[in-house]
Amino acid sequence: MDNNMYSTPQTLYIVVPCYNEEEVLPETITRLSSILRQMIEKHAIDKNSAILLVDDGSKDQTWRLIEQYFQPNHFVRGIKLAHNAGHQNALFAGLMHAKERADIVISIDADLQDDVDVIPEMVDKYHEGYDVVYGVRKDRSTDTSFKRFTAQTFYRLMKKLGADIVYNHADYRLVSKRVLEQLSMYEERNLFLRGVIPMIGFPSTYVYYSRSERFAGESKYPLKKMLSFAFDGITSLSVTPIRYITGIGLAMSFISLIVGLYSFIREMMGHTVMGWTSLMTSIWLIGGIQLICLGVIGEYIGKIYKETKRRPKYHLETILEKQSSVDRKRS
Ligand code: UDP
Ligand code: MG
Repeated sequence: MDNNMYSTPQTLYIVVPCYNEEEVLPETITRLSSILRQMIEKHAIDKNSAILLVDDGSKDQTWRLIEQYFQPNHFVRGIKLAHNAGHQNALFAGLMHAKERADIVISIDADLQDDVDVIPEMVDKYHEGYDVVYGVRKDRSTDTSFKRFTAQTFYRLMKKLGADIVYNHADYRLVSKRVLEQLSMYEERNLFLRGVIPMIGFPSTYVYYSRSERFAGESKYPLKKMLSFAFDGITSLSVTPIRYITGIGLAMSFISLIVGLYSFIREMMGHTVMGWTSLMTSIWLIGGIQLICLGVIGEYIGKIYKETKRRPKYHLETILEKQSSVDRKRS
């Protein structure tokens, strides 16, 4: 590689949210360290570059492991959240911590599903002038057909609802410091990074990789969490569902007007309406539709409620920094 390409080596932080990842973490640290080492040798990045492991309130030995690796491995840094804040919040915590220390930040899952070998390519793109580099999966061959189907439906729905998210991109991406500075201005509690980063609108590009299966351990996104993630994503980016509800309501009112008119005319003509069945059906149908509509509106009101409380997204309990380790048990 051409060394002159990198005028001044930049500090790269790789942010890894970890929730109960004791089984895979040693391998993740080994692979990321070797990538960083190679890149430092090629002068692609500064020697202060680091791996920032964010422990999202794990219940297993994840934090113990991070502490163990911290001393001997000079790349490893750690922050510990006081409780399980969720993937997006843990990632956000890591990004905000890295913002103060790095020029470039790459976020990646702990489970090695994302191909770490494209990291140098991401950094090259950064040097070409891109502020955001999205890691995009070439295909979904390693997924179950169910996951493939639900994921595809999700992306299609998001697109229809007007949210600009990158197809087949999870949270594996490079962002520059100035993107993080913009990101820190988003104060919403329910932050959906995949939707917000394209919104910021700085120059962006893609690198393609094939996604492998989880290296070890289980998915921390069971179906229930996945659905709630999709629902949160949709409702935090778009108010279109509320508009649809108004449409459905209008259509229903129009239909009932016609039906009413029809029964009235029949009554005038001397035919009594017999239909108990149709009556019951319509009562249930309308009741059902109303409940769905109330549910969707309720979801938005719930979001407003959460936002108005302006609670912190996460609580930092411990920071493992190279020079000094800061304990913030009472922050
Ligand atoms: N994760 C987290 N907090 C959570 C759930 C997950 O920090 O509450 C992390 C997890 O450790 C992993 C990443 O988010 O690094 C993605 O989770 P996972 O790989 O289980 O999701 P999947 O790839 O199955 O969608
Ligand atoms: Mg995974």
